[in-house]
Amino acid sequence: MVRKVDNFAIQGVSIAPGEVKRIDIQLGQLYTQTPMTMPIQVHRGRQSGPILLVSAAIHGDELNGVEIVRRLLKHRSLKHIKGTLIAVPIVNVHGFINQSRYLPDGRDLNRSFPGSERGSLAGRLAYLFMQDIVALATHAIDLHTGARHRTNLPQVRVDLAQATVLPLAKAFGAPVILDSNLRDGSLREAAVKLGVPTLLYEAGEALRFDEVAIRAGVQGILRVMRQLGMIRGRASSLHKALPDSLIARSSYWVRAPQGGIFRCAVTLGQKIDKHQTLIGELADPLGDQAEKIYASVSGVVIGLLELPLVHEGEALCHIASFSEMDQAVADIEQFTEQMYAQIEQQG
Ligand SMILES: [Zn+2]
Repeated sequence: MVRKVDNFAIQGVSIAPGEVKRIDIQLGQLYTQTPMTMPIQVHRGRQSGPILLVSAAIHGDELNGVEIVRRLLKHRSLKHIKGTLIAVPIVNVHGFINQSRYLPDGRDLNRSFPGSERGSLAGRLAYLFMQDIVALATHAIDLHTGARHRTNLPQVRVDLAQATVLPLAKAFGAPVILDSNLRDGSLREAAVKLGVPTLLYEAGEALRFDEVAIRAGVQGILRVMRQLGMIRGRASSLHKALPDSLIARSSYWVRAPQGGIFRCAVTLGQKIDKHQTLIGELADPLGDQAEKIYASVSGVVIGLLELPLVHEGEALCHIASFSEMDQAVADIEQFTEQMYAQIEQQG
């Protein structure tokens, strides 16, 4: 259901049909008295339609989404859209400035939704974002990367109990859809409670740009917009031969049985046979004691630790299980090949 909005305004700034406007959302001030703002851009089509929110850097050190939003805003398809796109490249501006996942009060913004007007710094920012932005949207896509020193294969996370999100998740076209429960305090949970179907896109690593993750993100959002009827365009212009995303029903973290230096033996997208495929070796600095690591489930690697220094219990490798395992591996391979071919052709 598309809400009809005649007078579309954010923090008192109205955006007329056919208008593109940058708005600096007022966030109060720093202790230097410097005013703090969150830059956003709104594209309102002449025709009314869905109102899609695309947000990034709720975790302030997750940069791929910031670049995805920048490229999306330059895309020619946005010239004639139906409905409205609200693009927010940096939600956690404080964390972004500090190159940190968290807010200066140490809180995780994505555990602070829906927030409250008189709450903590994180709670207030979450509240303002919900009231001023999320409440206007009919659909949302929230962009993330792996945490620091962790990289993720491009994947869309949705709660499949919400029937409305599956067609959007499929339209996005990431190689993997992960059925993931709503996390308490996350933007996704708060938005879904408001009746806004929300996709979470996870790809690449914190504090890095990952070209495959960025391209797959831009194209995924455009495909969702096409699915929602916001943009037109031939199917061929956005990957005609893209395989259907396979849905992982469960996922599992291989954790370090002891502290040590980890030499990883697997790559993203690799197939893992339980108790057989070597995940890597965990050793002491002199190499006297080395332990070979295996997984207790079969699946495909969708996330990896990049830093070789690990404490006991640390997550080394994220494995997703599929009912059609070989198909999943083949699809991921096809996706990766297509993305690299595209990078080579287009530069
Ligand atoms: Zn994140």
